[in-house]
Amino acid sequence: MSKKLVVLGSVNADHVLSVPRFPKPGETLVGSGYHIAYGGKGANQAVAAGRTGADIAFIACVGSDDIGARMREQFAADGIDTQAVMAIEGTTTGVAMIWVSADGENCIGISAGANAELTPARLQPHLPLIADADVLLMQLESPLSTVEAAAQTARIAGTKVILNPAPAQALPESLLRLVDVITPNETEAQALTGVVVDTEQDAQKAADVLHTYGISTVLITLGARGVWVSEQGKGELIPGFRVQALDTTAAGDTFNGALVTAELEGLPLRQAIRFAHAAAAISVTRSGAQPSIPVRSEVDAFLA
Ligand code: ATP
Repeated sequence: MSKKLVVLGSVNADHVLSVPRFPKPGETLVGSGYHIAYGGKGANQAVAAGRTGADIAFIACVGSDDIGARMREQFAADGIDTQAVMAIEGTTTGVAMIWVSADGENCIGISAGANAELTPARLQPHLPLIADADVLLMQLESPLSTVEAAAQTARIAGTKVILNPAPAQALPESLLRLVDVITPNETEAQALTGVVVDTEQDAQKAADVLHTYGISTVLITLGARGVWVSEQGKGELIPGFRVQALDTTAAGDTFNGALVTAELEGLPLRQAIRFAHAAAAISVTRSGAQPSIPVRSEVDAFLA
């Protein structure tokens, strides 16, 4: 029987505009290529896991609007079990306004919409999914009380908890103590630990702080440089692949989703990271969130 993944998290419709550079406060810039793409950190990670072949169920809330219904259909098409994707009457699906600059960086503002409705009460009927899973993957675009309730269920059931602590914020010790693997980028690592992550030594310093909460594996993603991996206080850099970046939206999400697929298939951590680097590298060569996430055959071909 294949190992099971549950992703709990957000769903957003991404309104994307390309700009030559980010506008200064008060400035108006002419952009181009406006379009709506499916996104949200939870959904992106679920899709990355689904497209790369994981046995995955998604716990999330969408609005009672057309786009929510269409996104739900697309999740199913991407191989995701959508029984716990709830359409909440009277709400709108979450929205993200994304600027993409000519050098491939992005800048994002979010309206939570239905994502704020993923309360511990709405999670309750889906707790057995978490208890039956091998891995629970979460981010921080859902109410913190729900993230913590899910992590508690996972801890009791022996389900491994992987937290991608994005967007950046400090977290209560009560939550950090329930996490087995954490995957911050540099900004998120700083928000969690107070350590400014610039050099490899800084990354290890931040990882050491996170280990004090009992988190056994710390993966600090460093964009094009790759990822700093620390286990039991010993760290190393695992470089990513060199590609021409077009749009880094969802690079971290693709990395997380693909990493879990590889882990569930039993790959050792370093090989799982290589698989995740490949999936994320493909994603940065394409624009958009979910449109940029590769399917399994593309990752296998990239690595061949
Ligand atoms: P985002 O918020 O843009 O989704 P993030 O800040 O969470 O991303 P990053 O640290 O930027 O995450 O990147 C995550 C992973 O994506 C990296 O570890 C690497 O595998 C891949 N990656 C990101 N940028 C590049 C790049 N320019 N070239 C190749 N791989 C990249």
